[in-house]
Amino acid sequence: MVVRNIGLDAKPPKAGCNDVLCPYHGKVSVRGRIFEGVVASSKTPRTVSIERNYLHYYPKYIRYERRRGKMLAHNPPCIAAVTGDKVTIAECRPLSKEVNFVVVEKVGGSSA
Ligand SMILES: [Zn+2]
Repeated sequence: MVVRNIGLDAKPPKAGCNDVLCPYHGKVSVRGRIFEGVVASSKTPRTVSIERNYLHYYPKYIRYERRRGKMLAHNPPCIAAVTGDKVTIAECRPLSKEVNFVVVEKVGGSSA
């Protein structure tokens, strides 16, 4: 199986897959923003919900406030992230109405 170079500092998964929407084995290219988050839900096939904490600057008080948000990302079968996994997601073309990101790596944890 040919593993594509996605142009990021992420190590490709050992497993292969036949997913067209996989950045390593399919045809989706990644570009744009990169986030880290925790998988909040992996109930849907090949899609995960990522929860992300970030700081938002509030000029009036010259401080940051904590914010939290969820976003959907495509979860290729060769990575197969499940609830609780820390993952890196990268922006790609819109894959569906609300999916504009794809999981490129599991962070920390055991090898994928
Ligand atoms: Zn794959």
